[in-house]
Amino acid sequence: SLEQGPEGPETPIQVVLRVRPMSAAELRRGEQSALHCSGTRTLQVSPPGGGPDVAFRFGAVLDGARTQEDVFRACGVRRLGELALRGFSCTVFTFGQTGSGKTYTLTGPPPQGEGVPVPPNLAGIMQRTFAWLLDRVRHLGAPVTLRASYLEIYNEQVRDLLSLGAPRPLPVRWNKTQGFYVEQLRVVEFGSLGALMELMQMGLSRRRSSAHSLNQASSRSHALLTLYISRQTAPQMPPVDPGEPPVGGKLCFVDLAGSEKVAATGSRGELMLEANSINRSLLALGHCISLLLDPQRKQSHIPFRDSKLTKLLADSLGGHGVTLMVACVSPSVQCLPETLSTLRYASRAQ
Ligand code: ADP
Ligand code: MG
Repeated sequence: SLEQGPEGPETPIQVVLRVRPMSAAELRRGEQSALHCSGTRTLQVSPPGGGPDVAFRFGAVLDGARTQEDVFRACGVRRLGELALRGFSCTVFTFGQTGSGKTYTLTGPPPQGEGVPVPPNLAGIMQRTFAWLLDRVRHLGAPVTLRASYLEIYNEQVRDLLSLGAPRPLPVRWNKTQGFYVEQLRVVEFGSLGALMELMQMGLSRRRSSAHSLNQASSRSHALLTLYISRQTAPQMPPVDPGEPPVGGKLCFVDLAGSEKVAATGSRGELMLEANSINRSLLALGHCISLLLDPQRKQSHIPFRDSKLTKLLADSLGGHGVTLMVACVSPSVQCLPETLSTLRYASRAQ
């Protein structure tokens, strides 16, 4: 478990792999599993038609039998929350092909009907972190201001999922004090778990019903929910180490677009533009991560400006932050080509 991980943000990116259970459709088609976990950190991939297994190691590997609670614990999200309370920028993102379990891992299954809440045992990393954070803040004994924003990046355009009026594309800007930020983004202060859950539900339902949702549009956009945590320093608070960023942390949850290749979706025209912007963001993310991990990088320039996604994740990835990647895969042999590309991307990130 990553709960025992390093105290501070020395390792910028931690990677957890989640293999979802076989779906009913995969079982009906009689598809075989190509993956099995050995121990808690190694995944064995058996190529179809024989040949030696290939092993991949991650911070944690969770198979289809692991519950949402298991995943929350293994990811050590509470540690990220503690760092955010101390002023760091932390990000949890899910990566993988469409249908691999990214949204399920972050927010649980889709609601069974209008206004029907997700059963607590199926709540995802986001709901669990929200509950933990509000509880933690209540016990801190110091004033903390909590705010949230929720946006979607679609075709390299930022759309506010909490906007009061009709959403229009918002520009991403940069300044010295804030770094990259979205101009005119609605950032809502909240004081209770219920209020935060409502904000999340609002964003989720807008995401599902967006005009471009002909064919699972949510699989082609990146969704970022950010919590902003500002603490007034009070004498009873633990001292802040020199070198820590100013008080005011962030905790960001990112449901990335499906990582599948353009060719696999048979994209043409409009869809091709989408696929290119998706890949542009995902490629830019992979590129920034690999440069960040390069021990020679000291003076090298990290190209956060290459995509909207990397701009908005810049403070978590570089500088004062910690990033957790949850790579999601299907166990089925039919998905193996995409699974292998997810495993390679995830391996390179650690
Ligand atoms: P993605 O967001 O990566 O496209 P989803 O999270 O929507 O994928 O998952 C695809 C389907 O599989 C959904 O119906 C989801 O509820 C289901 N699913 C995903 N992961 C699990 C899991 N660990 N256990 C049970 N069902 C899951
Ligand atoms: Mg999804």
